[in-house]
Amino acid sequence: MRTKLAAGNWKMNGTIASLDELDAMAEAAKGAAEVLICPPATLISAASARAENVAVGGQDCHGKPSGAHTGDIAAEMLKDAGASYVILGHSERRTDHDERNDTVRDKCDAAWAAGLTAVVCVGETLDQRESSNTLDIIGGQLAGSIPDAATGHNLVVAYEPVWAIGTGKVPTTDQIGEVHDFIRARLERRFGEGVGRSVRILYGGSVKAANAEEIFATSNVDGALVGGASLKASDFVPIIEALN
Ligand code: 13P
Repeated sequence: MRTKLAAGNWKMNGTIASLDELDAMAEAAKGAAEVLICPPATLISAASARAENVAVGGQDCHGKPSGAHTGDIAAEMLKDAGASYVILGHSERRTDHDERNDTVRDKCDAAWAAGLTAVVCVGETLDQRESSNTLDIIGGQLAGSIPDAATGHNLVVAYEPVWAIGTGKVPTTDQIGEVHDFIRARLERRFGEGVGRSVRILYGGSVKAANAEEIFATSNVDGALVGGASLKASDFVPIIEALN
């Protein structure tokens, strides 16, 4: 069975003082669900030292192992700082940094070479949904962003509709279920049933305590990738508890 995963993406938020929030999250992480926090890179070392039963992840990595790339961080460096996961291909990276599927695939290879689990994000824009292109877009992102060596251990897929991120708008559970079932089928077709069934698929986009339970009861939803509601323990702990 797939272990449920409550993942928090702190995005460009947080200083050392924010790590106080981890204490209550670590308490909640004693339940059945795995808890992952992806703070800004500046906090990875301190976060991993602070809460040993909370996994820590980066929010991006470079596609190369080292070299002249000012401002970038290699997967190996994330690992060295205490990370075991890295988010790749988040829509904010795809938009702000022009990341295409092949960029994400290279980063995923780099993450795997460093022993990190990649949380690969896919999701449609509102225009794409309204023109009934959602499944085509998701299918293309999955095919283009994930290398061939996927396993249930090195890969997590996060479905994050771009129009639901930070907007308070959430798809219906039918819409979420349709996409998660589609992702599962694509993973099984490409990687075989064993691997395809073991990869966890998270939903992300305006998840909060009030809607978590309903979303988690949806077909093929193995947890959530949470932005705003992962910054404070008072918001994130109830979401973890809804998975436990
Ligand atoms: P919100 O939960 O703030 O909508 O963000 C979702 C997200 O982008 C997580 O990666």
